[in-house]
Amino acid sequence: MHPLLLDLIVCPICHKSLLLSHTQTNWQLICQFDMMSYPIREGIPILLTDKASAIPKT
Ligand SMILES: [Zn+2]
Repeated sequence: MHPLLLDLIVCPICHKSLLLSHTQTNWQLICQFDMMSYPIREGIPILLTDKASAIPKT
């Protein structure tokens, strides 16, 4: 994903910027404030709260 594009993408819950991250299998966008993970499908960020998953606290 283009870094400039990432600047325009914000969390749909808190409207803060997201952190690009990846697991072994796929990329995702992380909100460090809500501890939510948004999937990226075929290069398209899915910024929908019902598609997001909560990040378990360690
Ligand atoms: Zn957020």
